[in-house]
Amino acid sequence: MAPFNYYRKLSPALKRVYRRSDELTEVELSTPATLRPIARQAEELLAEDRQRALQGACQRLADEINNQLGVPPVTVRVLAKRPSRTWGELHGLYEPPDGGQPARLTIWMRTAQRRQVVAFKTFLRTFFHELCHHLDYELFELADSLHTEGFFKRESSLFRQIAGS
Ligand SMILES: [Zn+2]
Repeated sequence: MAPFNYYRKLSPALKRVYRRSDELTEVELSTPATLRPIARQAEELLAEDRQRALQGACQRLADEINNQLGVPPVTVRVLAKRPSRTWGELHGLYEPPDGGQPARLTIWMRTAQRRQVVAFKTFLRTFFHELCHHLDYELFELADSLHTEGFFKRESSLFRQIAGS
């Protein structure tokens, strides 16, 4: 759907959320350098197909980012095969806190179709994408987390600071 048509159909309250989301283009980490070794470790663990250890590294990455930003934690799950749906593949999933349960971020290691381990860049981008949903609620205090241009810029800003491109 074209962004304009999407925008036009939003309620006035959601239009305000959309515009605010679009204005925010950066996630400012205090010490991104401390995150780079964890990302490199995650890259090795993905290549070695070590699911549990990779989940641990992703949890440390999320904890460190959330600490630097002063927001509540998120529980990270790394699962093996992506679920397949008629509308396509799910890459990652963010579930906000629910009745005392902390927020949860799920990410898959393998494609549903060919069961291949996903490329690390794709994996990490998906991870940052889902974490950006968390930050929309917890850091920027937006009432909803929308896929605006600003959202994708924030995702890229995390990627740039931590993975360097
Ligand atoms: Zn999303």
